[in-house]
Amino acid sequence: MSYVRDFTDGGMDLKDLLGGKGANLAEMTRMGLPVPPGFTVTTEACRTYLKLGEAPDGLFAEICRHLGDVERAMGRRLGDPDDPLLLSVRSGGKFSMPGMMETILDIGLNDATVEGLAAVSGDDRFAWDCYRRLISMYGSTVAHIPHDLFEQAHAAESDPRRLVAAYKRIFADQTGQEFPQDPQAQLEGAVLAVFRSWNTERARVYRRAEHIPDDLGTAVNIMAMVYGNRGPASGTGVAFTRDPATGARGVYGDYLQNAQGEDVVAGIRDTLPLSRLAELDRRCFDELTAALAALEARYRDLCDVEFTIEEGRLWLLQTRVGKRTAAAAFVIAAQLVDEGVITLDEALLRVDGARLAQLMFPRFDLADAPPPLATGVPASPGAACGRVVFDSRRATETRGPVILVRRETNPDDLPGMLAATGILTSHGGKTSHAAVVARGMGRTCVCGAPIEVDEERREFRAGDVVVAEGDLISVDGATGHVYPGELPVTPSPVVRYFDGAVSADSGPLVSAVARLVGRADAVRRLGVYANADTPEDAARARRFGAAGIGLCRTEHMFLGERRRLVERLIIAQDETEIRAALDALLPLQRADFTRILAAMDGLPVTIRLIDPPLHEFLPSYEDLLGAADDHSRELLTAVRRLRETNPMLGLRGVRLGLLVPGLFAMQVRAIAEAAAERTAAGGRPRPEIMVPLVGDVRELAAVKAEAVQVMEGIFPGIPIGTMIEVPRAALTAGRIASEAEFFSFGTNDLTQMTWGFSRDDVEGSIFPAYLRMGILEESPFETLDQPGIGRLITIAVDEGRRARPDLRIGVCGEHGGDPASIRFFHEAGLDYVSCSPFRVPVACLEAARAALLSPE
Ligand code: ADP
Ligand code: MG
Ligand code: MG
Repeated sequence: MSYVRDFTDGGMDLKDLLGGKGANLAEMTRMGLPVPPGFTVTTEACRTYLKLGEAPDGLFAEICRHLGDVERAMGRRLGDPDDPLLLSVRSGGKFSMPGMMETILDIGLNDATVEGLAAVSGDDRFAWDCYRRLISMYGSTVAHIPHDLFEQAHAAESDPRRLVAAYKRIFADQTGQEFPQDPQAQLEGAVLAVFRSWNTERARVYRRAEHIPDDLGTAVNIMAMVYGNRGPASGTGVAFTRDPATGARGVYGDYLQNAQGEDVVAGIRDTLPLSRLAELDRRCFDELTAALAALEARYRDLCDVEFTIEEGRLWLLQTRVGKRTAAAAFVIAAQLVDEGVITLDEALLRVDGARLAQLMFPRFDLADAPPPLATGVPASPGAACGRVVFDSRRATETRGPVILVRRETNPDDLPGMLAATGILTSHGGKTSHAAVVARGMGRTCVCGAPIEVDEERREFRAGDVVVAEGDLISVDGATGHVYPGELPVTPSPVVRYFDGAVSADSGPLVSAVARLVGRADAVRRLGVYANADTPEDAARARRFGAAGIGLCRTEHMFLGERRRLVERLIIAQDETEIRAALDALLPLQRADFTRILAAMDGLPVTIRLIDPPLHEFLPSYEDLLGAADDHSRELLTAVRRLRETNPMLGLRGVRLGLLVPGLFAMQVRAIAEAAAERTAAGGRPRPEIMVPLVGDVRELAAVKAEAVQVMEGIFPGIPIGTMIEVPRAALTAGRIASEAEFFSFGTNDLTQMTWGFSRDDVEGSIFPAYLRMGILEESPFETLDQPGIGRLITIAVDEGRRARPDLRIGVCGEHGGDPASIRFFHEAGLDYVSCSPFRVPVACLEAARAALLSPE
């Protein structure tokens, strides 16, 4: 069994074995780029170590053999007191986990070799500075000494020799042992510490958030050190082949003269823009630019590199396909197509729906923005401005928009979170209570910001700035930045494009999005419909590319002034009173449908008959108890009569239609009359009628029989279908299909009823705990639970189509707009997904990606 591979013996396709960093170091080595010699200990070795609790047999002997090759290549030996070779020992798993695992530099220094390094370099200060870096890095990673102990000593002492003495005392005090002088022992200790860093708490938390499996292990890269801190002709930096923020062409980066790599990241000194390197060292700059071009050609994508210049000689220490903003992802994908590097279909795979959704949120106009007060975890996108409040009560009582600021949130904060436009916390990450709830409710949220929240004094501190209750702040949920004051908000240019307010060639971002979404429409098989209840939403959905309305809810049409009519219906004592109430509602409903059918002329409009329990249209029980007038007393009696312990499982949907005589018939008549009216006016109405909450075919049959009779003579032949949202409907889909002309999965209710999760109750309480405990990886209300709900869907599709081969099948729950779920709907063979108008382009893009990733 071989656990070690030389850099000359690997490549970019070996990420499983060598980790991303190791595979890419090998690739660069094979491309002839200047990489310091070295080798990689495989992830296999790490997995074995973590399983056995000790290094696999023969590992260190193998490392020794490869070390010999490095020593020969460098002409130096590890531990040579005259001219020592020093090593870096770096972590690197298959997927990048920036800063989560350990790296130890300058392995090989001890009391003797430090003198040799000082002599050959002619730089005493440099050599001792490297030694003290080693002791602190080794001390904190291998021996777990708190880092601040070293930092305190550093602040108190500037002479590197005395500092090394102080660090060695700290090491001895904390561990009871002297700092190891044997370079071989240092190397072995460092390798094992990197293995163990795979399993630290923060690494686990990060993997859970990023959905990286826990059993991959990390590789260890061991390579010769090169020094950026050898004087003004040395330095270190990072470089990108294009701007990772905007995607603009041209080499970007930062450079720090006379410094080691970690100084750039630590932000100790101000860096220079990379262009300055061209003036400082033209040759290295040109060599770097050529290397960047070669890397882009090889990886066919934006790359970033870490580099070091040692006395005028360039070394590349790392490369990877670089992270980028959502905007840059679209711009770069389109550029690469223009440059003939990738095809349009490949470009579709370089972007995704989640990023497109990000680009569609309103954003802050940052032109005159002050620097951010703090930057936390961007947990739920959006641009929110408001007055700071520190508790739920103030949030609900304060007029105007508020930002709820808490250390962390809990279920008691729900009313405040609902009242707030934005939520800011100082604790927790992407799976904290605040994050999960805010995403569910569509509130902007930044978590875990480096601020000190003082709920007693009603203020928070960011650095030396104090923000008091009532002060205005702006929270950017896309970047995690928190700004003082109220920043202006502008609609996203992408939305303006879909709305027809700007043309496709109004800038690189809009043009890239337009091209890719255009291509997506040609590639996808899934249809994309919208959920829209008003003519305005319907019109927008159409502009955004919806091929129809998959869900037009009718309950919103009973709010406002029409509530009175519904109240009349509810307190009606006999058939005549019910009739009168319904007769009054009919013309209003007809007008609603006429307008929606007009907005969607020529396209299908799926109208769902009334779904919620009737008491939702009445004032609350508590409010009515206090009221004394006759009408309120009548309502109170009705509320008493209608009260249910589990309203979501009670009198609603088709059950309501069957128990309140004439209610569904009134709606069907309104739809048929609206369609007839549109036809008379020269339009092409295509209404469809959808029955909610069906669990048995006989429920549907009864509604259908009545509906067919009602539309007869007005506008016959309107297709009648059903929601599949009660688990029993999915399980008896074959029978239901004998009556239904189409199915539409209501995945919200289906999830709720299959899991037995009351959505309104669990999202703030059980889910955050379940996510933390690893029982759930995401909310099943956000991303479809494939093993459970997905199975029901598959059963229903199979049985439904067997009973009725031309059955049309779609989904209209919120999952219809969720990127991860759309792939499943494509694979399950659905005809369309229906989602909110804003999600339509996102769904189009994801449907195309699904078609490319799982061709039929
Ligand atoms: P991370 O993944 O956190 O960036 P790295 O393993 O890349 O950790 O290393 C941390 C820092 O040490 C980087 O700035 C890198 O450039 C620097 N570094 C790593 N190896 C060497 C080396 N052989 N010579 C000089 N600097 C190095
Ligand atoms: Mg790095
Ligand atoms: Mg439902």
